[in-house]
Amino acid sequence: MSTVRKRSFPQRALPLWGVVVVAAVLAWSAPVLCAPGRAHLAAPESVARGDAFVAGLSLAQPAEQVNFFWRGRRHAVAAREVPDASGGAPVWRAEILLPAPLEEKADRLTLGACIGTGCSAPEATRPVRLHDRKRPVQRLTVDRKYVAPPPEEAARIRRDREKVRAALAGHLPERLWSLPLERPVPGTVSSLFGMKRVFNGQPRGMHRGLDLRGAQGTPIRACADGVVALVDDLYFSGNAVYINHGDGVFSSYLHMSKPLVTPGERVRRGQVVGLVGATGRVTGPHLHLGLMVQGESVDPQ
Ligand SMILES: [Zn+2]
Repeated sequence: MSTVRKRSFPQRALPLWGVVVVAAVLAWSAPVLCAPGRAHLAAPESVARGDAFVAGLSLAQPAEQVNFFWRGRRHAVAAREVPDASGGAPVWRAEILLPAPLEEKADRLTLGACIGTGCSAPEATRPVRLHDRKRPVQRLTVDRKYVAPPPEEAARIRRDREKVRAALAGHLPERLWSLPLERPVPGTVSSLFGMKRVFNGQPRGMHRGLDLRGAQGTPIRACADGVVALVDDLYFSGNAVYINHGDGVFSSYLHMSKPLVTPGERVRRGQVVGLVGATGRVTGPHLHLGLMVQGESVDPQ
């Protein structure tokens, strides 16, 4: 998926006092590891709002569980033994996908981690800066009923929202996702994540997925291993499939002509889960791919 768009991350200019504060925090946080030489907490220095990033904790000693702390929440993740690439002793590593939400106001957040089932406060921390990427406006024309839904559809739209919320609340403690994600259809991007959208001249919030071109009937492949969390015909999304990839990661595939999986089914990365269609609020056949990480929509790219 990473080849679709060239990425460049213009760094936000920090005022001088900000540089001093960040430098001071870096100096303070660098040696704050769980115990000297025992653990290393890794994350990107800066993340664009709307993106997800991998945070990892590497340990020289066995550990069953690691807790990550991000945006006021604690996320428990199992640690796995990984062979050392240089042929040395094995290390234990825990990884998690975390979101930098589009709406996050802070310019700097603190990532924390601690080791063990009993730990409840960060023992290691590091700062993560947030920056913005340009989000263009996209004007679209759709059937009037999708801009001003008829009142009799209000209950259905509410029910749809509840069904999706319930599916996304499903807990799967086992990590099934792996990076990079599989591209679900070969088509190119027709609408980016985070674009501000105007339907029939009326502003309607941001696009919380990635639209990929695809002719009617094109097979759609699961972007990672997972368990099917929801298969339904939703008012705006049309025929939709949601997949739980474990450890707080979900993907969604909308506007299908036909779903080919059932709820609870275990799917493999690359398995066909449905066919491209034009159901719901669309201008034509395409796949809307959604990626939800720890309850936040993020850019699948
Ligand atoms: Zn879309």
